[in-house]
Amino acid sequence: MTKEQVLKSFKNTGGLLSGHFILTSGRHSDAYMQCAKLFVQPNEAEKLCGALSKKLTSFGADMIVSPAVGGIIMGYEVSRQMGIKNIFAERVDGKMTFRRGFELNKNKVIIIEDVVTTGGSVKEIIELVRSQGSEVLVVASIVDRSNGKVDFGVPFVNLLSMEVLSYLPEDCPMCKSGQPAVKPGSRSL
Ligand SMILES: [Zn+2]
Repeated sequence: MTKEQVLKSFKNTGGLLSGHFILTSGRHSDAYMQCAKLFVQPNEAEKLCGALSKKLTSFGADMIVSPAVGGIIMGYEVSRQMGIKNIFAERVDGKMTFRRGFELNKNKVIIIEDVVTTGGSVKEIIELVRSQGSEVLVVASIVDRSNGKVDFGVPFVNLLSMEVLSYLPEDCPMCKSGQPAVKPGSRSL
């Protein structure tokens, strides 16, 4: 799947919008990416997760672990296509934890997250998986928003690596032109 095809999926599902947005960092941007929109349309999600699955088969993993909430549906769909198991970790008192009877037993793990920006949640899950005596083989996401800057210490496979341009409010060309700014409700910016 080419970068253009991935972007087309985002556009088809309304996951990539252009306009004038306030990011969680406080910076302004003319593009907004909402990965959750991809999963509103299972046929689009199936294509993207299928393309990612193909890149992951050779690692020989037997388990997918994803962070709640963003990674859960994606982790499930990739595991379904790869024919391996999946579980998710969630925050309890601010700390990534396995609940619901989820556990690892000397597994070979792929960590799945929909969008990687700073990679903070993924790094926490890498520690969690290792603390349970299992091995992290690879991290995978649909989008790498760090544009290749994030380093997990293991291979990082993704379908689209891009950095969205952003501006300090005082330098923002959209502000200068008087276009109203909106703040979408998501941490995935
Ligand atoms: Zn602005």
